[in-house]
Amino acid sequence: MDTLSDIKAIAFDADDTLWDNETFFLEVEKNMCAILSEYGDAQTISKSLFATEMANMEDYGYGAMAYTLSLIENAIKVSNGKIDADKIAQIMKLGRSLLHLNAKPFDGVEETLRKLKNTKRYQLAVFTKGELLTQEHKLQRSGLLPYFDHVVIVSDKQEQQYIDLCNTLNIKPEELLMVGNSLKSDVLPALNIGAWAVHIPYEVMWQHEVIDDFEHSRLFQLNQFAELQQLLIDLKD
Ligand SMILES: [Mg+2]
Repeated sequence: MDTLSDIKAIAFDADDTLWDNETFFLEVEKNMCAILSEYGDAQTISKSLFATEMANMEDYGYGAMAYTLSLIENAIKVSNGKIDADKIAQIMKLGRSLLHLNAKPFDGVEETLRKLKNTKRYQLAVFTKGELLTQEHKLQRSGLLPYFDHVVIVSDKQEQQYIDLCNTLNIKPEELLMVGNSLKSDVLPALNIGAWAVHIPYEVMWQHEVIDDFEHSRLFQLNQFAELQQLLIDLKD
């Protein structure tokens, strides 16, 4: 474990790592299916929504506003253009609610960030994909902003963005530790460039992010965010 002693920067995913995000999307989807119930069962409408989101990904990217456009497009599609404006307005309101989700940090997050910051051993960064304004607002609402030296918001998190992140932090890949809930976006690309990773799974996962579990010599699996303290602070004290 002392191989982690070379770590100079820790980058944190935001959604479903620092605070809950996905359960709000699932709740919106459930309500959207109820609004559209005369046009099909929830499973069929959800499946159609996912296909719409995937088809829109290249143009719209990730985030609540992209999701809202896909909700509306899907409503028009599943109703064969028959949906009325009142229902579109209800769906827009649902989508907009995602711009105001509370971003309340998970248990142990703030205490752990404070302790990590107090060590003065690491640069701390938020590294999240999505819409700039939405992610900035969530960070502000979370109250966690003072703990971070850098906030990096990107349209996607693939290997190139991790290389760019290392350049921004002025570190080598092997000096970076990425912490997140997604094996696909937070763990795999970080490992692939030579960085370290901590996976902290959340109870729900957007199906676009799901990949099979795997093991790796530079990957740590944790159950709780606060366990980072044992991994990164206690071992060195
Ligand atoms: Mg996440």
